[in-house]
Amino acid sequence: MYQESYDNSGLQVGEPAMEINGALVTLDVTEAVIDEAIAAGYNLVIAHHPLIFGGIRSVTGKNMVERVLLQAIRNDIAVYAAHTNLDAIRQGVSGKMCEVIGLQKTRILEPVRGKLKKLVVFVPLEHAEKVRQAIFENGAGVIGNYDSCSFNAEGRGSFRAGDGTDPFVGRQGQIHYEPEVRIETIFPDHEKGRVITAMLQAHPYEEVAYDIYPLDNRYPEIGMGMIGELEKPLDEKAFLGLLREKFRTGVIRHSALRGSQVKKVAVCGGAGSFLLAKAISEKADIFVSGDFKYHQFFDADGRIVIADIGHFESEQYTREIIYDLLIKNFPKFAVRLSEVNTNPIKYLS
Ligand SMILES: [Zn+2]
Repeated sequence: MYQESYDNSGLQVGEPAMEINGALVTLDVTEAVIDEAIAAGYNLVIAHHPLIFGGIRSVTGKNMVERVLLQAIRNDIAVYAAHTNLDAIRQGVSGKMCEVIGLQKTRILEPVRGKLKKLVVFVPLEHAEKVRQAIFENGAGVIGNYDSCSFNAEGRGSFRAGDGTDPFVGRQGQIHYEPEVRIETIFPDHEKGRVITAMLQAHPYEEVAYDIYPLDNRYPEIGMGMIGELEKPLDEKAFLGLLREKFRTGVIRHSALRGSQVKKVAVCGGAGSFLLAKAISEKADIFVSGDFKYHQFFDADGRIVIADIGHFESEQYTREIIYDLLIKNFPKFAVRLSEVNTNPIKYLS
């Protein structure tokens, strides 16, 4: 639902109707992971990184992806990917990093735009409360930690019921004026079906007058990266030590230290260099991510410390998000974390 346009999340191998007898959760799908699923008797592998990402023109086993595809299909193993859709939610990849570091007052670093809609509906006075409740219970009216948000203005609606109608008030063929409330509220795109259905069911009119407006507002619940604060400031070296310990990383590549305390921390799981300018503008003391290139370290320029802890290391706890979600929603379903370390990068110690 919230995957990036370039992404390819979802079911990649297998038929949607197949019966699943167990799921193995991994960051990447490799031959060793498929072997592990076979040994466990599980026929689903859920990965963060899509196995099929670019175009595939043949499946002949000439490279790793094609070999894994052949192996999965031959063994009736389905492969599912939850990638940037899992990056984009508050409790997603970067949210998990915040939890591991122990950040507080966390929020999305770069919230998306264009995912919120405004709903305006005109309801006869005595039914306004019922309609408001119905739409609030189905995902409308949430702004930050506030719910049931709406604006209500009273006025007069007019209508003339035509042939074949059964008007709730007024008579066929006569113009009728009815005291109505204009209810305005907001809802996220993905709740549209629920909100509109609930509104139509609760509304007494045969033909409901309502408008849906696209909004340019930021949607603070969805977006890339996170930012938060340490409970107590740490000096930079101590914070880097904490990262090394928590993320079990062999190497942390970082830009020049600034000799100041670390309080505000920005994070982005995976390749997050595209958020550096945003982390600087939000006045983060340090930006923890992966996949920074040589020249990008110059961009820190004394304004922030970049800490590149490694792509795999920054996302290693992502598996736990998927695992926890499955256990919570399907308590009897067999699911386990893969024991294969799929990090293709090795460190000489
Ligand atoms: Zn990644």
